[in-house]
Amino acid sequence: MTRLLLVGPPGAGKGTQATALGDKLGIPHISTGDLFRKHIADETELGQQVKHILDSGKLVPDEITNQMLIERLRQADTKNGFLLDGFPRNIGQAEVLAKELADSDQKLDAVVQLEVEEDVVVGRLLARGRSDDNEDVIRHRQHVYQSETAPLLDYYRDRLVTVDGVGEVDEVTDRVLAALRDRT
Ligand code: AMP
Repeated sequence: MTRLLLVGPPGAGKGTQATALGDKLGIPHISTGDLFRKHIADETELGQQVKHILDSGKLVPDEITNQMLIERLRQADTKNGFLLDGFPRNIGQAEVLAKELADSDQKLDAVVQLEVEEDVVVGRLLARGRSDDNEDVIRHRQHVYQSETAPLLDYYRDRLVTVDGVGEVDEVTDRVLAALRDRT
C-alpha cells in the first residue's frame, strides 16, 4: 500500500515521473492538471468553466478542484494506493485531502519533492509548447508555485523526501525509488 504525493515547480518533471513511478509501484497516477485537460478536450461543462483559468496559469478555485479530486480518489482503483501529481497546490487543498483520508482511515506515506532550479524548469517549459506554456504564463505559474504551493513543503515536513530532479528520466525515477526505500 503506497500513498504518495509528488510536489515540485511546474516543469520539474512531475508528470513524467508520476507516470513512471505509478507503473513501477502498480498504483494509479492521478493528475488534477490531466483531469482538467481531459474535461477541456471533451468540452464538458467543467472543461468550459476552467479553460481560461488553465490558459492564464492561475489556480482553479478550490471548490471545483477538491470536488473533482475527491470523486477520483473514491474510485475503486485507489484501494491499493495512489500517486497524486499537482494536488494539493495549497494548504487549503492539503487540509481537504487530510480530512478525506482520515475519514477512511488512510494517510499519506510520503511526499516526494522534485527539486529543480527555476532557470532549468523555465527552459524545459518553453521547449514543451503546451497551450499554457508561453513565457508570461510560465512566469506566473512559477510565482503561484512559490507563493501558494511551496508552503506545503513545511506542512509535510515529517513525510518529505527530497530528490534531485535534474538528470535522465530513468535516473530520476531510480533516485525517487531509492529515497522511498531508504525512508522505511
Ligand atoms: P499541471 O498539469 O499540474 O501543470 O496543471 C495545469 C493547470 O491546471 C494549472 O496551472 C492550474 O490552472 C490547473 N490545476 C492543476 N491542478 C490544480 C490544483 N490542484 N488546484 C488548482 N488548479 C490546478
